[in-house]
Amino acid sequence: MRVLVVGSGGREHALVWKLSQSPEVDGLFCAPGNGGISQLAELVDIGAEDIESLAEFAETKDIDLTVVGPEAPLAKGVVDAFEKRGLRIFGPNKAAARLESSKAFAKNLMKKSHVPTAQFAVFDDPQAARAYVRQLGAPIVIKADGLCGGKGTIVANTLSEALGAIDLLMEDRIFKQAGERIVVEERLVGEEASIIVITDGTTAVPLLASQDHKRLLDHDKGPNTGGMGAYAPAPIVTDELAKLIMEQVIQPTLKGLANEGVLFKGVLYAGLMMTQEGPKVLEFNVRFGDPELQAILPLLKSDLVPLLDDTVEGRLSPEGCQWEAGSCVCVVLASGGYPGEYQIGKEIRGLDTVQDREGLLVLHAGTKRDGKRFVSWGGRVLNVVARETDIEQAVKKAYDAIEAIAFDGMLYRKDIAWRALKKPVNR
Ligand code: AMP
Repeated sequence: MRVLVVGSGGREHALVWKLSQSPEVDGLFCAPGNGGISQLAELVDIGAEDIESLAEFAETKDIDLTVVGPEAPLAKGVVDAFEKRGLRIFGPNKAAARLESSKAFAKNLMKKSHVPTAQFAVFDDPQAARAYVRQLGAPIVIKADGLCGGKGTIVANTLSEALGAIDLLMEDRIFKQAGERIVVEERLVGEEASIIVITDGTTAVPLLASQDHKRLLDHDKGPNTGGMGAYAPAPIVTDELAKLIMEQVIQPTLKGLANEGVLFKGVLYAGLMMTQEGPKVLEFNVRFGDPELQAILPLLKSDLVPLLDDTVEGRLSPEGCQWEAGSCVCVVLASGGYPGEYQIGKEIRGLDTVQDREGLLVLHAGTKRDGKRFVSWGGRVLNVVARETDIEQAVKKAYDAIEAIAFDGMLYRKDIAWRALKKPVNR
């Protein structure tokens, strides 16, 4: 089978790494990929959102299965375009991807389907939004309706912060059309966790629960980022809780979509707040989490290809997947200045000294190959992923490896997985 992966980050490197181990795969391509991915797959110089060129490539190069990493091409209808040409592709179509591309759509669907989530209201008019926010008071959460690369949510602690957020989104249009409509919602309190399932629209197979770390700095301080690290399994999601989430969140959401004539195929990711009243949905994503997937895939014993293939064919088995024992952690090494401005092109040193360590994997998030060397080529540069018998050992293994890796300006959090370790780690 010839497989094309779409995307260029650590998540796509993880997918390529896992797919490369499948006996079913005899041709592996990635568009556009990155330096690390080029060691395992043939890079294709097509951007992840250039849908027509991707479809053209898949058609002419006899690609049997395309796997889409990021949300943007899904929201733009890459699946619809491939299916129109009779090409096999793993991911939700444009209508189903609205669960992520429109927060108002997702919230209304949850309301109709009785999925637990924060109380909310949707506004197209800033005047009405302000009046509502004044009436409810702070703390309160303001969310842009559309895709904003993870930056469209403002958890406001004061009324003036909330009113400022409405101005930025609806008047200043800092996210253009994505902020024309907003969702205002109640602030939830609790610990967060993610449940990611693979689904053919009817059957849903859960992956291990994970927790990511969105803030830049230790102790969850500093600005929000694309994610500074993750680990799996997340002990807060007990088997009982996982079952409850499948019954109260995943199944009713799929049914709700089906009632609207939408069949969801692909990855459904529920970001949850574990409140005192039980789990409530913060957001849905329609693709694998990055960096969550990097901490989940090394624990997947099953071959990924049949799972993806059966999803596309609508014959997913409820048996689920097989998992390795133990825990896995992913620590992100980022460029100095990220998530603000940063420099690229910095030589990465020490990769060869860690490449043969057992249970250790360095996935590339933003790198470029430069002869024999790799240089940084993005905000998030590397993902150091360690698998061990327990989370303490996994964390130790990851940070030991990081000691050997360096590039100018390299920054990372030193407390990844602290919730699972039960206490903050001071390094
Ligand atoms: P979202 O853009 O919906 O994924 O939200 C991003 C982050 O904002 C979440 O991971 C939470 O940390 C926080 N957040 C979103 N909605 C709420 C809420 N209703 N209450 C508290 N925190 C929230």
